[in-house]
Amino acid sequence: MMTDIDLHCHSTASDGTLTPAELVRAGAAAGLAVMAITDHDTTGGWADAAAARPDGLRLVRGAELSCRWHGAEPSIPLHLLAYLFDPAEPVLAAELLRLRVDREQRGEKIVENLRAAGVPITWDEVRGYAAGGSVGRPHIAQALIRAGLVTTTSEAFASDWLGARFLVPKSDLDVFEAVAAVRAAGGVAVFAHPRATKRGRVVPDELIVELADAGLFGLEADHEDHSPAERAEIRALAERLGLVVTGSSDFHGSHKTVRLGAFTTDPAAYEKIVSAATGVPVLG
Ligand code: AMP
Ligand code: FE
Ligand code: FE
Ligand code: ZN
Repeated sequence: MMTDIDLHCHSTASDGTLTPAELVRAGAAAGLAVMAITDHDTTGGWADAAAARPDGLRLVRGAELSCRWHGAEPSIPLHLLAYLFDPAEPVLAAELLRLRVDREQRGEKIVENLRAAGVPITWDEVRGYAAGGSVGRPHIAQALIRAGLVTTTSEAFASDWLGARFLVPKSDLDVFEAVAAVRAAGGVAVFAHPRATKRGRVVPDELIVELADAGLFGLEADHEDHSPAERAEIRALAERLGLVVTGSSDFHGSHKTVRLGAFTTDPAAYEKIVSAATGVPVLG
């Protein structure tokens, strides 16, 4: 019996390169039993993913929320995976919309800064790559590749480019407000790649303790951006705090090299997430 469970995957509704329909087909072809669609700050891929879902693949509808912790100076951005929430719940829906607008304004600002430095790309081009989905730096990276300034997405994330010099912060959603909003919408919140130092500063364990008190449900431990030691630390912390542990690919199609199902979630942890959610059901 196939039991592979991959709870973190992106489509063209944000910065993945497979459409939602292609994503669920690829999940089934990769032998997944369960796949979550978790685009950045949007549920825009849910309907197409649901319509194309192959028999035998269970679909968890979710999103990855752009959050921020204001307990450090400067504040630290982080990602929260939200599963099985009601997309019509007004507070969370309004926040998701605000986050997408924030992404557009920030993307345009980054493009302006690049243009001021003589880089021949345009906001129209970048918006075209996003094609109506949540705009992110990978779409700007695509324009930098097209212009011949870098050859890969990860090169575009070097500090000379989108990693630092041309990085404009998003305003994001306060992480405590995010946990509360996800829960109020019947969803389950899991902290995505909490120790991913290559993306920038990471939050201290004390914050994770506070978030657990505030209703955080789990921690993503098995992720390509974590070393084996970091995965073990997260498992220990989760055990101490009574949080579930997940593992996932964070698949982005050809914007990244990781494959679907490269990391997976234990069936028992998955069942706990499903049991705790009241927003929308798993499909399939
Ligand atoms: P943004 O959401 O606009 O801040 O862009 C962050 C996104 O860029 C992440 O969700 C990843 O998909 C992608 N990303 C971040 N770092 C890298 C990297 N080093 N190489 C390739 N993609 C990256
Ligand atoms: Fe992404
Ligand atoms: Fe993320
Ligand atoms: Zn992700």
